[in-house]
Amino acid sequence: PLDKDELGTSTWRFLHTMASYYPKSPTKKQSEDMVQFFNIFAQFYPCEPCALDFQEDLFMRWFGKWADFLIVFGMSMDLSVHIPKMIRVIEANIKINPPRTENQDALAKWLCERHNTVNVKLGKPVFDCSKVHERWRDGWLD
Ligand code: FAD
Repeated sequence: PLDKDELGTSTWRFLHTMASYYPKSPTKKQSEDMVQFFNIFAQFYPCEPCALDFQEDLFMRWFGKWADFLIVFGMSMDLSVHIPKMIRVIEANIKINPPRTENQDALAKWLCERHNTVNVKLGKPVFDCSKVHERWRDGWLD
């Protein structure tokens, strides 16, 4: 039978390691693919309540498509500088956290924060995200 905790620990190990080894300067394609990865991951993670909450935390489901529309519309109106800023403000206000895939540090920090959201929900200690590479890439410094 599926062991939710065992699955969770193994999955976090994989996700955090992947984030800590993600390129420091990804190409546009790598950055877009990583957003897709989390979009698909959040649909198929095999613990339904976990997956639904994770989807809410990331996308609120309907917002992704709307943001894509805004970007295309913004580019056509030559508003490409302003639209991403607008989207960040909207995201902050409706409390969704789409993947930050612009570089390794941003992705590792974003994922650490998502894990902390789950930690808080489960009453577990919050992890210090400044130590995320130490934990998942470099090894503890002490
Ligand atoms: P884990 O939380 O599995 O953590 C493993 C190790 O990661 C820790 O020992 C620590 O060294 C390190 N760590 C801890 N926090 C962080 C952080 N913020 N950043 C980086 N490293 C960190 N379980 C449920 O019961 N309900 C849910 O809704 C649920 N949702 C989940 C959603 C996802 C996407 C995933 C991957 C798992 C989810 N789980 C959920 C499982 C849950 O998060 C734990 O994995 C499980 O409870 C086992 O916890 P643990 O104490 O072994 O440590």
